[in-house]
Amino acid sequence: MGSKTALRRIQLIPELQKKYNIFTHIDNSAAEKVLPDDSANSNAPLSHLVAGIKDNIVTKDMPTTCGSKILLDYMSPFDATCVKLLRDAGALLVGKTNLDEFGMGSTGIHSYFGPVRNPLFPNENAVAGGSSSGSAAAVAAGATDFALGTDTGGSVRLPAAYTSTLGFKPSYGRISRFGVIAYAQSLDTVGILAKDLSVLRKVFGVLDKYDERDPTSLSNKLRDAISDRRVKRSTYRIGIPKEFVQGSMAKELMEPLSNFLEKLMKQGHELYPVSMPSMKFALPVYFTISPAEAASNLARFDGIRYGTRSEKGDLEDGTLFSPTRDAFGQVVKDRMVLGNYNLCSEAFKDSYIRAQRLRVKTIDEFDSIFRFPNLLTGSKGNDAGLDLILGLTNDGPPQSIDHYHEEKVSSPINEYKNDIFVTPMSLAGLPVISFPLKRDAPLGVQFAGQYGDDSTVLDACSLLV
Ligand code: GLN
Repeated sequence: MGSKTALRRIQLIPELQKKYNIFTHIDNSAAEKVLPDDSANSNAPLSHLVAGIKDNIVTKDMPTTCGSKILLDYMSPFDATCVKLLRDAGALLVGKTNLDEFGMGSTGIHSYFGPVRNPLFPNENAVAGGSSSGSAAAVAAGATDFALGTDTGGSVRLPAAYTSTLGFKPSYGRISRFGVIAYAQSLDTVGILAKDLSVLRKVFGVLDKYDERDPTSLSNKLRDAISDRRVKRSTYRIGIPKEFVQGSMAKELMEPLSNFLEKLMKQGHELYPVSMPSMKFALPVYFTISPAEAASNLARFDGIRYGTRSEKGDLEDGTLFSPTRDAFGQVVKDRMVLGNYNLCSEAFKDSYIRAQRLRVKTIDEFDSIFRFPNLLTGSKGNDAGLDLILGLTNDGPPQSIDHYHEEKVSSPINEYKNDIFVTPMSLAGLPVISFPLKRDAPLGVQFAGQYGDDSTVLDACSLLV
């Protein structure tokens, strides 16, 4: 890839933006930053690769809004670690990508900047999935070679599936969260979307580093211990949790899925049905823990430390900060109410603590079925266990934007259902990649590996897809 391809992508951006509403901010000077092919820097690992950055990751030369009115025009005084690493590696950052406000949503319709439209269906006004909607649309439409997203409970994988692109969520702690505006800090990860697996792997190679500024960054000691245990395989033991294969699976998924499974068996991989009973709790557990963390994290947007201060007096209706905090969108407000409720003394034990217990149970269940040890929990690994878990990412094609506005489906629960297959891995911090079953079709499948075993997930994807 050289300067010509980079320039071509950059030239396409204004037109693609009009069609799909991919960006919240475009760097209009990007074309001038394309280096000639023979410049000294052209050997940098990501040289001439055009990138979009989800707009909840801070950049010092472009605003960071989180898709929210409350952060309109907010300029960070520093770059997030992942942004700095990309710049140092020669990537061309062309803009900030649109998202569901603060990463909350699975459709891309909850942004102050309006909904993202899915480039796979140019005439249908279909959702691109969320919340890294703009990142997926940027890659799918060819505006960028890759884009960073964040995946708290599926937000890289679901839009990847809906736009027929690759979406990788690394193990929790592998990519620094320093400069990533927190939604739910025990779940937040930075992920990568791309069409080309070799590009995605190169980007991950650049970002997969310990960062002392992120207290949850995976230490070098653990990184080394994980690499020491790693075994490179040519065939894998792959489990398919029955909880992942739903009776309601869309017709268009059946045939490509069974063809793919057949292909795996022909290549000599062993497939096993497995049962993971705690998976059915993943969605309620996720929607108990994540809003609770969000309610605390979003308290800082009060117009004093962060956020646009309302012109109105902030005590006007007797509730401190309520005019300022009215700038949040409805979904964010709902989550804060839910989160604060889960943390209040009345509900704490029965909802928050119970959810945390079930989260531990989910992790234990994953630990019991993987062959690779979990160096975080101390699980030794099961010699007779699996290398990978395979499941669907989405259970059907994306709906239209209008569909989500219809009264009968506009309840938030309707949207939460999209996350059914993607939240279990988030609760356990596992590495997982979603890849398309068919070119240009919105049918995503995911491979998940044991905590820390990101290389197996990526190697398997190179080998099998
Ligand atoms: N759809 C989920 C939510 O709304 C996932 C979001 C994410 O991963 N950022 O919380």
